[in-house]
Amino acid sequence: MKTIKDFNFKGKKALIRVDFNVPLDADFNVTDDNRIEAAKPTIIKILEDGGSAVLMSHLGRPNGKVNPDLSLKHICNTASEVLGIKVKFVEESTGPLAEKAVAELKTGEVLLLENLRFHAEEEKGDKNFAEKLSKLGDIYVNDAFGTAHRAHASTTIVAQFFPEKKCFGFLLAKEIEAIEKVMRTGEKPVTAILGGAKVSSKITIIENILDKVDHLIIGGGMTYTFVKAKGGKVGDSICEDDKMELALEILDQAKKKGVEVHIPVDVLAADDFNNNAQTKVVNSDEIPDGWQGLDAGPKTLEIFKEVILKSKTILWNGPIGVFEMENFAKGTIAIGNYIDEATQKGAFSLVGGGDSVAAVKQFGFENKVSYVSTGGGAMLESLEGKTLPGIAAILA
Ligand code: AMP
Repeated sequence: MKTIKDFNFKGKKALIRVDFNVPLDADFNVTDDNRIEAAKPTIIKILEDGGSAVLMSHLGRPNGKVNPDLSLKHICNTASEVLGIKVKFVEESTGPLAEKAVAELKTGEVLLLENLRFHAEEEKGDKNFAEKLSKLGDIYVNDAFGTAHRAHASTTIVAQFFPEKKCFGFLLAKEIEAIEKVMRTGEKPVTAILGGAKVSSKITIIENILDKVDHLIIGGGMTYTFVKAKGGKVGDSICEDDKMELALEILDQAKKKGVEVHIPVDVLAADDFNNNAQTKVVNSDEIPDGWQGLDAGPKTLEIFKEVILKSKTILWNGPIGVFEMENFAKGTIAIGNYIDEATQKGAFSLVGGGDSVAAVKQFGFENKVSYVSTGGGAMLESLEGKTLPGIAAILA
């Protein structure tokens, strides 16, 4: 795996695909600069080597049209502050204007190109557009995990114009290593904690990870499809009746593969999908009609705790309850605490994909787990076992 550690950028212009798709407020101020921070080590290494950096990214969904509200010029000041160096900007991402700006770029300077998605060719993965981009640097660096699952011009196609001079940035390399640790090289016991709303959206992940884990903890809304499939009463809980057979198949496969599956034995049930609803703890297979399970119960959390604390490698994807409502967030917070404790005892913990990342940030666990992935869809596809085109293009 070639990373930027394998290159010396002295006198070179690095063309770096970053993910600067950051949130902006109504006055075009950046409200969360995490993604810029995440790309910083790669950019700094290149500048410290004596090179210069040409940054390319998308912002929002302009759908192939120029949209001044989504211009990357809005983030120039924040990027300058975060990087500690003035970031130059050019109002084009390809063509003479961009080429001139790159030609004028001096050692130690950083140039940000305009939003790639102002051109429909970007998302189409157009080869000519990619070739034009390739003229803007000597070495191609991909550091955008968030878009690595897309075969776009700047994330994938452009790499073919740098047969020997392409590599992963620090961030993307870290994401790949984290996934590898969970999927292949992690110390046993390996535990996956899967929550979230539906079995249907997690099924490919479950099928893929059954070969890699020793323990599978099921939580969240998925619980009830499994419980009902096993003959339990789930009341008004969220349940996918058409996935019950699949749930039984998963349990059967898990047994054959020696994976221990842990499904909640008790839940916090509510008489309405509402933070102020009446609640009671009930066995997960005895939920009365008119009641729905919205969080894990105390006995369940004890069992989950024991499993998590003996794990050496932990993957967490999906909340354990309806964490957006305070009264049903306790299970998710408890899981975060157990993972924190296991991590302090030396386990490697990866949180990735969708709402679990939001939960981890909301409850302050971000710095307590080993790694929080920066890519939602890209992480989900990795966990499903797919090879991401942006990663394959560098390895090719
Ligand atoms: P996902 O995007 O599949 O990870 O699902 C995340 C969503 O699942 C969150 O918005 C949670 O509120 C929701 N969720 C978790 N547990 C439950 C539950 N018991 N009933 C309904 N929704 C749930």
